[in-house]
Amino acid sequence: MSPRADELAANLAAVRRRIDVACTGAGRDAGEVSLVVVTKFFPASDVRLLADLGVTDVGENRHQEAEAKAEECADLGLRWHFIGGLQSNKAAAVAAYADVVESVDRAKLVGPLARGAEARGRDVEVLLQVSLDPPGADHRSGVDPAALPDLAARVEESEPLRLRGLMAVAPLGEDPATAFARLAEVRAGFVRDHPRATVLSAGMSGDLEQAIACGATHVRVGSAVLGPRPTVQ
Ligand SMILES: *Cc1c(COP(=O)(O)O)cnc(C)c1O
Repeated sequence: MSPRADELAANLAAVRRRIDVACTGAGRDAGEVSLVVVTKFFPASDVRLLADLGVTDVGENRHQEAEAKAEECADLGLRWHFIGGLQSNKAAAVAAYADVVESVDRAKLVGPLARGAEARGRDVEVLLQVSLDPPGADHRSGVDPAALPDLAARVEESEPLRLRGLMAVAPLGEDPATAFARLAEVRAGFVRDHPRATVLSAGMSGDLEQAIACGATHVRVGSAVLGPRPTVQ
Protein backbone atom coordinates (compact mmCIF):
# COMPACT_ATOMS: atom_id res chain seq x y z
CA MET A 1 0.00 0.00 0.00
CA SER A 2 1.06 3.60 -0.60
CA PRO A 3 1.88 5.76 2.46
CA ARG A 4 -1.41 7.61 1.97
CA ALA A 5 -3.36 4.35 1.85
CA ASP A 6 -1.61 3.22 5.07
CA GLU A 7 -2.48 6.49 6.75
CA LEU A 8 -6.14 6.34 5.71
CA ALA A 9 -6.38 2.69 6.76
CA ALA A 10 -5.01 3.46 10.23
CA ASN A 11 -7.26 6.51 10.69
CA LEU A 12 -10.28 4.61 9.48
CA ALA A 13 -9.58 1.75 11.88
CA ALA A 14 -9.26 4.23 14.77
CA VAL A 15 -12.58 5.90 13.88
CA ARG A 16 -14.32 2.54 13.56
CA ARG A 17 -12.98 1.62 17.01
CA ARG A 18 -14.32 4.89 18.43
CA ILE A 19 -17.73 4.11 16.95
CA ASP A 20 -17.65 0.59 18.43
CA VAL A 21 -16.66 1.84 21.88
CA ALA A 22 -19.33 4.56 21.79
CA CYS A 23 -21.98 2.03 20.76
CA THR A 24 -20.96 -0.33 23.56
CA GLY A 25 -21.09 2.58 26.03
CA ALA A 26 -24.56 3.50 24.83
CA GLY A 27 -25.80 -0.10 24.89
CA ARG A 28 -26.23 -0.06 21.12
CA ASP A 29 -25.19 -2.52 18.44
CA ALA A 30 -22.26 -1.21 16.34
CA GLY A 31 -24.24 -2.17 13.24
CA GLU A 32 -26.75 0.57 14.08
CA VAL A 33 -24.30 3.35 13.22
CA SER A 34 -23.08 4.04 9.67
CA LEU A 35 -19.96 5.98 8.83
CA VAL A 36 -20.09 8.71 6.19
CA VAL A 37 -16.56 9.87 5.41
CA VAL A 38 -16.51 13.59 4.58
CA THR A 39 -14.07 14.01 1.70
CA LYS A 40 -14.49 17.75 1.06
CA PHE A 41 -11.22 19.48 0.08
CA PHE A 42 -9.54 16.10 -0.54
CA PRO A 43 -8.87 14.71 -4.02
CA ALA A 44 -10.75 11.98 -5.85
CA SER A 45 -7.64 9.80 -5.42
CA ASP A 46 -8.38 9.71 -1.67
CA VAL A 47 -11.99 8.77 -2.36
CA ARG A 48 -10.70 5.87 -4.44
CA LEU A 49 -8.41 4.69 -1.61
CA LEU A 50 -11.29 4.94 0.85
CA ALA A 51 -13.51 2.83 -1.40
CA ASP A 52 -10.72 0.22 -1.51
CA LEU A 53 -10.72 0.26 2.31
CA GLY A 54 -14.43 -0.56 2.42
CA VAL A 55 -15.95 2.91 2.74
CA THR A 56 -19.40 2.94 1.10
CA ASP A 57 -20.68 6.45 1.90
CA VAL A 58 -18.95 9.77 1.33
CA GLY A 59 -20.03 13.32 2.12
CA GLU A 60 -19.35 16.59 0.31
CA ASN A 61 -20.47 20.13 1.06
CA ARG A 62 -19.74 22.19 -2.04
CA HIS A 63 -21.65 21.58 -5.24
CA GLN A 64 -18.94 22.09 -7.86
CA GLU A 65 -16.38 20.02 -6.02
CA ALA A 66 -18.91 17.29 -5.25
CA GLU A 67 -20.19 17.08 -8.82
CA ALA A 68 -16.68 16.73 -10.26
CA LYS A 69 -15.63 14.10 -7.71
CA ALA A 70 -18.82 12.08 -8.07
CA GLU A 71 -18.23 11.98 -11.82
CA GLU A 72 -14.56 10.99 -11.45
CA CYS A 73 -15.52 8.24 -9.00
CA ALA A 74 -18.67 7.06 -10.77
CA ASP A 75 -17.23 3.55 -11.19
CA LEU A 76 -16.89 3.00 -7.42
CA GLY A 77 -20.57 2.54 -6.61
CA LEU A 78 -20.39 4.90 -3.62
CA ARG A 79 -23.35 6.63 -2.03
CA TRP A 80 -22.86 10.41 -2.20
CA HIS A 81 -24.23 12.53 0.65
CA PHE A 82 -24.60 16.26 0.11
CA ILE A 83 -24.15 17.88 3.53
CA GLY A 84 -23.51 21.54 2.77
CA GLY A 85 -25.54 24.70 2.53
CA LEU A 86 -27.69 24.42 -0.57
CA GLN A 87 -28.64 27.27 -2.90
CA SER A 88 -31.99 26.76 -4.58
CA ASN A 89 -30.46 27.46 -8.02
CA LYS A 90 -28.02 24.57 -7.49
CA ALA A 91 -30.45 22.12 -5.92
CA ALA A 92 -31.57 20.46 -9.17
CA ALA A 93 -27.96 19.85 -10.18
CA VAL A 94 -27.15 18.36 -6.76
CA ALA A 95 -30.08 15.94 -7.06
CA ALA A 96 -28.50 14.58 -10.24
CA TYR A 97 -25.58 12.93 -8.39
CA ALA A 98 -26.38 12.99 -4.66
CA ASP A 99 -28.02 9.85 -3.32
CA VAL A 100 -28.80 11.57 -0.04
CA VAL A 101 -29.28 15.31 0.46
CA GLU A 102 -28.81 15.88 4.19
CA SER A 103 -29.08 19.65 4.33
CA VAL A 104 -32.66 20.38 3.30
CA ASP A 105 -33.70 23.26 5.54
CA ARG A 106 -36.38 25.15 3.64
CA ALA A 107 -39.37 24.48 1.40
CA LYS A 108 -37.86 26.43 -1.48
CA LEU A 109 -35.42 23.57 -2.09
CA VAL A 110 -38.08 20.89 -2.53
CA GLY A 111 -39.24 21.81 -6.06
CA PRO A 112 -35.75 22.06 -7.60
CA LEU A 113 -34.55 18.88 -5.86
CA ALA A 114 -37.58 16.99 -7.15
CA ARG A 115 -37.08 18.31 -10.69
CA GLY A 116 -33.40 17.32 -10.63
CA ALA A 117 -34.22 13.83 -9.41
CA GLU A 118 -37.00 13.40 -11.97
CA ALA A 119 -34.76 14.53 -14.81
CA ARG A 120 -32.45 11.63 -13.97
CA GLY A 121 -35.32 9.21 -13.33
CA ARG A 122 -34.09 8.52 -9.81
CA ASP A 123 -35.20 8.82 -6.20
CA VAL A 124 -33.24 11.03 -3.85
CA GLU A 125 -33.20 10.48 -0.11
CA VAL A 126 -33.71 13.58 1.99
CA LEU A 127 -32.74 14.48 5.55
CA LEU A 128 -34.05 17.68 7.08
CA GLN A 129 -31.32 19.73 8.72
CA VAL A 130 -32.49 20.90 12.13
CA SER A 131 -31.05 23.98 13.80
CA LEU A 132 -29.83 23.32 17.33
CA ASP A 133 -29.11 26.97 18.04
CA PRO A 134 -30.94 28.39 21.02
CA PRO A 135 -34.03 30.39 19.99
CA GLY A 136 -33.08 33.93 19.02
CA ALA A 137 -29.47 33.06 18.16
CA ASP A 138 -28.10 34.01 14.79
CA HIS A 139 -29.03 30.81 13.01
CA ARG A 140 -26.15 29.08 11.29
CA SER A 141 -28.21 26.74 9.18
CA GLY A 142 -31.05 24.37 9.65
CA VAL A 143 -34.77 24.62 10.05
CA ASP A 144 -36.21 25.73 13.36
CA PRO A 145 -37.70 22.64 15.05
CA ALA A 146 -41.08 24.38 15.13
CA ALA A 147 -41.12 24.53 11.32
CA LEU A 148 -40.16 20.88 10.88
CA PRO A 149 -43.69 19.46 10.41
CA ASP A 150 -44.45 21.79 7.48
CA LEU A 151 -41.15 21.12 5.77
CA ALA A 152 -41.54 17.36 6.25
CA ALA A 153 -45.02 17.51 4.70
CA ARG A 154 -43.64 19.33 1.66
CA VAL A 155 -40.96 16.68 1.13
CA GLU A 156 -43.45 13.84 1.57
CA GLU A 157 -45.74 15.30 -1.11
CA SER A 158 -42.89 15.23 -3.58
CA GLU A 159 -42.81 11.97 -5.49
CA PRO A 160 -39.09 11.40 -6.23
CA LEU A 161 -37.95 12.54 -2.77
CA ARG A 162 -37.82 10.04 0.10
CA LEU A 163 -37.99 11.53 3.57
CA ARG A 164 -35.50 9.49 5.61
CA GLY A 165 -34.85 11.53 8.77
CA LEU A 166 -32.94 14.40 10.31
CA MET A 167 -29.44 15.88 10.29
CA ALA A 168 -27.86 18.34 12.69
CA VAL A 169 -24.57 19.99 13.59
CA ALA A 170 -23.80 20.85 17.22
CA PRO A 171 -23.54 24.63 17.62
CA LEU A 172 -20.13 26.13 18.37
CA GLY A 173 -19.67 27.17 21.97
CA GLU A 174 -22.07 24.67 23.50
CA ASP A 175 -21.38 21.24 24.97
CA PRO A 176 -22.36 18.89 22.12
CA ALA A 177 -23.92 16.47 24.63
CA THR A 178 -26.43 19.17 25.63
CA ALA A 179 -27.19 20.08 22.02
CA PHE A 180 -27.60 16.43 20.97
CA ALA A 181 -29.89 15.76 23.95
CA ARG A 182 -32.14 18.50 22.54
CA LEU A 183 -31.87 16.88 19.11
CA ALA A 184 -32.94 13.51 20.55
CA GLU A 185 -36.14 15.13 21.85
CA VAL A 186 -36.89 16.77 18.51
CA ARG A 187 -36.27 13.49 16.79
CA ALA A 188 -38.57 11.53 19.12
CA GLY A 189 -41.46 13.81 18.15
CA PHE A 190 -40.52 13.69 14.49
CA VAL A 191 -40.40 9.88 14.35
CA ARG A 192 -43.85 9.68 15.96
CA ASP A 193 -45.22 11.58 12.96
CA HIS A 194 -42.90 9.93 10.39
CA PRO A 195 -42.23 6.39 11.63
CA ARG A 196 -40.15 5.43 8.60
CA ALA A 197 -37.89 8.48 8.77
CA THR A 198 -35.55 7.00 11.36
CA VAL A 199 -32.17 8.26 10.14
CA LEU A 200 -30.35 10.63 12.48
CA SER A 201 -27.16 12.08 11.01
CA ALA A 202 -25.20 13.72 13.82
CA GLY A 203 -21.66 13.68 15.13
CA MET A 204 -18.38 14.61 13.48
CA SER A 205 -14.69 14.01 14.28
CA GLY A 206 -14.90 15.88 17.58
CA ASP A 207 -18.26 14.77 18.91
CA LEU A 208 -19.27 11.43 17.41
CA GLU A 209 -19.38 9.77 20.86
CA GLN A 210 -21.92 12.30 22.19
CA ALA A 211 -24.01 11.92 19.04
CA ILE A 212 -24.05 8.12 19.26
CA ALA A 213 -25.10 8.38 22.92
CA CYS A 214 -28.08 10.48 21.73
CA GLY A 215 -29.19 8.07 19.01
CA ALA A 216 -27.24 9.00 15.86
CA THR A 217 -27.56 6.40 13.11
CA HIS A 218 -25.01 8.13 10.85
CA VAL A 219 -21.84 9.98 11.81
CA ARG A 220 -20.12 12.32 9.33
CA VAL A 221 -16.39 12.17 9.89
CA GLY A 222 -13.84 14.16 7.92
CA SER A 223 -10.57 15.19 9.55
CA ALA A 224 -10.26 12.15 11.86
CA VAL A 225 -10.02 10.00 8.71
CA LEU A 226 -8.38 12.28 6.13
CA GLY A 227 -6.29 14.56 8.33
CA PRO A 228 -6.53 18.33 8.68
CA ARG A 229 -8.22 20.04 5.75
CA PRO A 230 -6.12 22.40 3.65
CA THR A 231 -6.97 25.98 4.63
CA VAL A 232 -9.51 27.72 2.40
CA GLN A 233 -7.87 29.86 -0.27
C1 LIG B 1 -17.03 19.17 7.29
C2 LIG B 1 -18.26 18.62 7.87
C3 LIG B 1 -18.23 17.45 8.66
C4 LIG B 1 -16.94 16.73 9.04
O1 LIG B 1 -16.25 17.50 9.99
P1 LIG B 1 -14.93 16.92 10.72
O2 LIG B 1 -14.85 17.74 11.95
O3 LIG B 1 -13.80 17.13 9.78
O4 LIG B 1 -15.17 15.50 11.02
C5 LIG B 1 -19.43 16.95 9.12
N1 LIG B 1 -20.61 17.55 8.84
C6 LIG B 1 -20.69 18.68 8.10
C7 LIG B 1 -22.02 19.28 7.83
C8 LIG B 1 -19.52 19.24 7.59
O5 LIG B 1 -19.60 20.36 6.85
